[in-house]
Amino acid sequence: MPWFSKKVKPKSPRLDNGAAPAPAAEGEGLWNKCDDCGEIVYRQEWERNWNVCPSCGRHDPLPVRRRLEMVLDPGSFQELDADLAPQDPLGFSDQKRYRDRLKGTYKKTGLRDAFVSGVGAIDGRPVSLGCFAFEFMGGSMGSVVGEKVARVIDRAFERRIACIVFSSTGGARMQEGIFSLMQMAKTSAALNRFRSVRKPYVSVMLHPTTGGVAASFAWLGDVIIAEPKALIGFAGPRVIEQTIREKLPEGFQRSEFLLEHGMIDAIVPRPEMRDRLAQILGLLG
Ligand SMILES: [Zn+2]
Repeated sequence: MPWFSKKVKPKSPRLDNGAAPAPAAEGEGLWNKCDDCGEIVYRQEWERNWNVCPSCGRHDPLPVRRRLEMVLDPGSFQELDADLAPQDPLGFSDQKRYRDRLKGTYKKTGLRDAFVSGVGAIDGRPVSLGCFAFEFMGGSMGSVVGEKVARVIDRAFERRIACIVFSSTGGARMQEGIFSLMQMAKTSAALNRFRSVRKPYVSVMLHPTTGGVAASFAWLGDVIIAEPKALIGFAGPRVIEQTIREKLPEGFQRSEFLLEHGMIDAIVPRPEMRDRLAQILGLLG
């Protein structure tokens, strides 16, 4: 009988089907702890639930390609304009040169810019759509993002099909100065042209949707949907408080507040998003 017994390592729990858990990506554990309710959930289960906490319904960020996979018919997505890459028209530099920042972000995310777009189908109905990648420089809108959004709308116009844009952005990309601000007018003009085909344009606002994107095409949807508790607005609450010198009401600029005040049409939780979009396209498309 030894003096000391060897400590037995606790075994990680098995999945329902008994399959071995997939190896976690670097820096990620096998478990995900919810920032709101503290519930600890098996990462695979949380990912299967589209990064929504099964206990309290907190919506964590969802990578752009997962979102497209979530709403589109399997295998229907055809990515377009993937090769559009941003320029540095101002030779801009802050703590880092804009050019280097773009290169670094491309290496990290595999994306050329903060928007992925193309055509696909939802419940068999063709749709021209695009989605912001918040993981690329905070989803900021420069000339490439604006151009891709305009092309999503133009394609819907040419093919006479419905159009969906998922926004998740901090606003215009200041490193491109006026070139980024011009995108607000360009995308709004494209939407005006699209009106003539009488197909729906659905704008889905994710957390957060602010700045020049909120002030242009995101709020021009025929139907405007938001995810629960998303921050949506033009300027941040602190800037507004300082300007009007008044305390803002509780929950100001959150989806629930905006729905109550008639600024958006519906709040749709992520697991229901695909069905709701299919329903809207069925009714209006
Ligand atoms: Zn939770």
